[in-house]
Amino acid sequence: MKRRWNRSSREAWARPTPGKQEAEEKLRMFARVLHSAAEGIMITDPGGRIVSVNPAFSRITGYSEEEAVGRNPNLLKSDVQQAQFYVDLWAAVHAAGYWEGEIWNRRKNGDLYPQKLSISTVRDEGGAIRHYVGIFTDMTERKQADIDLRLYARLFESASEGIMITDTNGRILSVNPAFTATTGYTLEEVVGRSPRILHSGMQDAAFYVDMWAAIHATGCWQGEIWNRRKNGDIYAEWLSINAVREENGRISNYVGMFTDITERKKSEEHLKYLALYDPLTELPNRTLFRERLQQALQFAGRQRQRVALLFIDLDNFKFINDSLGHAYGDQLLQQAAKRLKSCVRKNDMVARLGGDEFIIVLPHISAAQDAIHVVKHIFEQFDAPFTFGPHTHFATASIGVSVYPEDGDDPETLIQHADLAMYHAKNRRNDKFQLYAPHMNDQLKRRMELERALRDAMAKDQLHMYYQPQMDIHTGTIVGMEALLRWKHPELGLISPAEFIPLAEETGLIVEIGDWVLRQVCGQNKAWQAAGCRPVKVSVNLSAIQFQQRNLADQIRDVLRQTGLEPQWLCLEITETISMYQVESIRIMLQELKAIGVDVAIDDFGKGHSALSYLKRFPIDIVKIDKCFIEGIHNDPENEAIVRAVTDLAHGLRLQVIAEGVETEEELAVLRQLRCDRVQGFLLGRPVAAEAMERLLAGDREAAGR
Ligand code: C2E
Ligand code: MG
Ligand code: MG
Repeated sequence: MKRRWNRSSREAWARPTPGKQEAEEKLRMFARVLHSAAEGIMITDPGGRIVSVNPAFSRITGYSEEEAVGRNPNLLKSDVQQAQFYVDLWAAVHAAGYWEGEIWNRRKNGDLYPQKLSISTVRDEGGAIRHYVGIFTDMTERKQADIDLRLYARLFESASEGIMITDTNGRILSVNPAFTATTGYTLEEVVGRSPRILHSGMQDAAFYVDMWAAIHATGCWQGEIWNRRKNGDIYAEWLSINAVREENGRISNYVGMFTDITERKKSEEHLKYLALYDPLTELPNRTLFRERLQQALQFAGRQRQRVALLFIDLDNFKFINDSLGHAYGDQLLQQAAKRLKSCVRKNDMVARLGGDEFIIVLPHISAAQDAIHVVKHIFEQFDAPFTFGPHTHFATASIGVSVYPEDGDDPETLIQHADLAMYHAKNRRNDKFQLYAPHMNDQLKRRMELERALRDAMAKDQLHMYYQPQMDIHTGTIVGMEALLRWKHPELGLISPAEFIPLAEETGLIVEIGDWVLRQVCGQNKAWQAAGCRPVKVSVNLSAIQFQQRNLADQIRDVLRQTGLEPQWLCLEITETISMYQVESIRIMLQELKAIGVDVAIDDFGKGHSALSYLKRFPIDIVKIDKCFIEGIHNDPENEAIVRAVTDLAHGLRLQVIAEGVETEEELAVLRQLRCDRVQGFLLGRPVAAEAMERLLAGDREAAGR
């Protein structure tokens, strides 16, 4: 209990009233008060010697009355206060008769302790100072409590963890700034409300029931929880809830402390994601695909079901990527991924194996026919052009299919066989899909052998040029020829360019081969002229890869100069696949070629995704209508209509029209009627070696001369 000593009581004590008995009674009372006071009391004389102390003094300081009396009060002095402090203290006592404040003293055992001290002067009737009275309380415990409180408050304010204190009814009493930083709610917004305002709905009711059961049983709970910020964002926090108990054991509050672990979660999730998904298309990657395929096979094995694997490869992707840039390539892959996903059911899986290769797993099929159904669906999806901002492009895909258990019973074999089937599909014109068949393994072997062999075919002089004549449809004279590459393999025999040109393109050998072809053909044409043959234009096929070479025009100029051939006797054939992409840069390249003075022909026109507008946009001279439109044209009104339209349009644009692959007189008759300019095909002459062509040219001259 705290006693207050006011001035009047001090004065009453200092100035006892007259009347002896009464006075003695009062003195005894004062002595009792002094004795039983909880405050330490020390009385000194003006000379500064202690004359009396009470028991509380001894309790606090450790000095007994005997030890203290007669000594100077500075036996309690600590060096915590500076000398000036004591000067000021005594100045105040003398001026006002009173001083009150906090002071650190030292107990007998050497411990420092804080005390609240008041010093008063006791004067006699004449006003002279008779005594000083010091009254003090030990502040140690209160000080500690103060310090603790202040410390807790600072911790609460500055903690990086969010802290929320609730009462036992689950009403929020207080939150700290970190709480506000994480949740977005200020103290004012949440006081009195339930922590449920943070619920995200990501945990079910059972979660909270378990959580509270743990708190009631053990007094605490901790774990990961998803909550919702004021702005609606969901975040993850690591939360610990502790029940705070009073001394009697009753719970008075709950304290929740949490750290926002969203970022950490995100990076964990992200790492997991990166390990299993392709970030570009967001499809499962090779690893996840293998895992799922393995599961699907095990399941299908037990259920006696089939699993189909569709290996999908985008055609010409490398070309798109190299010529249009990787950003386009990426977009194409993303759009293709979306289309593939739209073709399958929920339980099927589309994965990206890397590059332009995708794979689809159809886990529950009863027959291969089910897979073909999906393949057809994919082709339909790829019929529409892909759009990149203002540009649209067509892209096709080749698909190989393998089926468990017929084509293999482990992931490795099934993938390999689907891949193999896909390679076969690539070589098909339309419906570029293929079911795996055992003989494909042999073909793969051949392909690998070819690849090796092609590398040294040039060095070993195994490449030769053949020439196929092109006739004027009206006069029948040879007005041009197409140079066609042949590979005479010592063991495998004559290999078709349709087989090895794609291989050369894939391996990059085409650049070297293409250069050789140009030199060979220009040199040969010049030689014929030198031998007195009537000059004719010779066409050379350019691969898309060659066309991408920036120095193509320089290369051609160089070849012409070295062989001495005049440019008007050279024609370059480019295919539609070239003309489809990068319209503007192709136009510039073609103009460069035109500037040299050579002709340019569009080959296999109509076979791919032709745009008639290319005929107008590109500076070309000749359109070669693909043989698929010529074949049986006399019996096919649709093809006839197409050839008529293309011919009329080409003529309107002052382009010449060549019909490719003319094999019968009937076809020739229709083409003549459609006013086609030139014809090329087995009917008029198969591709032949240079010597045979020279004889043909000579014969033609004789025939023309007759
Ligand atoms: P292409 O440029 O369309 O050549 C015409 C193809 O049709 C040639 O096949 C030719 O032999 C064939 N052909 C000609 N008349 C007929 C016919 O009446 N009926 C049928 N069914 N076919 C006929 P080839 O020589 O096997 O060449 C295939 C393709 O290989 C060529 O198609 C061309 O794209 C490419 N190629 C050939 N030589 C070269 C070359 O030196 N460089 C490049 N980059 N590609 C070449
Ligand atoms: Mg050609
Ligand atoms: Mg052609």
